[in-house]
Amino acid sequence: MKFNTKAIHGGQHDIDPAYGSVMPPIYQTSTYSQSTPGGHKGFEYSRSGNPTRAALERALASIENGEFGLAFGSGLAAIDAVMKLLKPGDEVVSTNDLYGGTYRLFSTIFKDFGIKFHFIGMENAENIEEYVNDNTKLIWVETPTNPMMNIIDIEACAKIAKKHDVLLAVDNTFATPYLQQPLDMGADIVMHSATKYLGGHSDVVMGSLVVKEKSLAERLLFIQNASGAVCGPQDSFLVLRGLKTLHVRMQRHCENGKMVAEYLNNHPKIEKVYWPGLSSHPNHDIAKKQMKDFGGMVSFTTKGNNYKDAIAIVERLKVFTLAESLGGVESLAGHPASMTHASIPKEEREKTGVVDSLIRLSVGIEDGDDLIEDLKQAIG
Ligand SMILES: *Cc1c(COP(=O)(O)O)cnc(C)c1O
Repeated sequence: MKFNTKAIHGGQHDIDPAYGSVMPPIYQTSTYSQSTPGGHKGFEYSRSGNPTRAALERALASIENGEFGLAFGSGLAAIDAVMKLLKPGDEVVSTNDLYGGTYRLFSTIFKDFGIKFHFIGMENAENIEEYVNDNTKLIWVETPTNPMMNIIDIEACAKIAKKHDVLLAVDNTFATPYLQQPLDMGADIVMHSATKYLGGHSDVVMGSLVVKEKSLAERLLFIQNASGAVCGPQDSFLVLRGLKTLHVRMQRHCENGKMVAEYLNNHPKIEKVYWPGLSSHPNHDIAKKQMKDFGGMVSFTTKGNNYKDAIAIVERLKVFTLAESLGGVESLAGHPASMTHASIPKEEREKTGVVDSLIRLSVGIEDGDDLIEDLKQAIG
């Protein structure tokens, strides 16, 4: 089955044997009656399993070309479950330009549980091997990265992971399975903040994991139930509904992303544009190799690199809403230095490129002409 068909039908056979409803009912229940102790119809308690969540989890596994999907209460809850595969003394090699919440989870919570992290630049995957030793259990990759849109070669990372018998996990939130399928490239775990493109309508917070291998799935399913950070049936329904238009939305996100990136790239007041589809992007070739298209996330800086200029631009935008988050149908703009990255000291954030004038756009699926007009009036 091809991707566009899977997005709609993947894992959705016999969804409602009682009445044949096309969408699964929202099973808003915590528990299920048993005819005799242990005599249930597949579900006993909704932390362990819920039919609406199960329908979503099968859909997630299908679109990522995996075997097992697991849904959580947020993207960070999904990452938290992966980290619980580890033990004190274990080491993790991770992308340095990470989603801020992931960095916070690793560098505060799990560091205190005795796990050692190496945050490194992975744009050249060979760098990873230098940090792999006998204690290394996990390589954590985010590509494209947030907000600098760096691209990491997943296949090259997978080769290193296999060679050293280390797990490879990929945060696929920015790309979505429409653009890249990390499990096919040799990753062991693919993770999503389903809050973003998978849900796609800025109306739910959710996370997910997909794996191929049964024993790894069993360990993660155990953690999902034992730690209990599951999502509810209503949210499962919303994300399942979102998935059914993922391919159509992503196609438009990519078209509009290209239009916006090219407009900004030719604008006299713009210094730099970060979008993997531009041939000037340092890892454009890897993006071309592993992604079907280049997505709707675009970051840029203004000439003179002035903090106030950037604030004025994001305040003047009308079609783009000034807000955190990304991946919804509506266009959003953010100023990382004063919003998502405000807690990181200026020198630290500037090392990875988060300078004062950096603006990050989540380009939505409105008419592209209106987005360009809006940028034109805001930048001047
Ligand atoms: C938002 C995000 C997360 C965290 O997900 P939540 O659903 O907010 O917990 C992790 N990784 C990336 C790349 C994200 O954009």
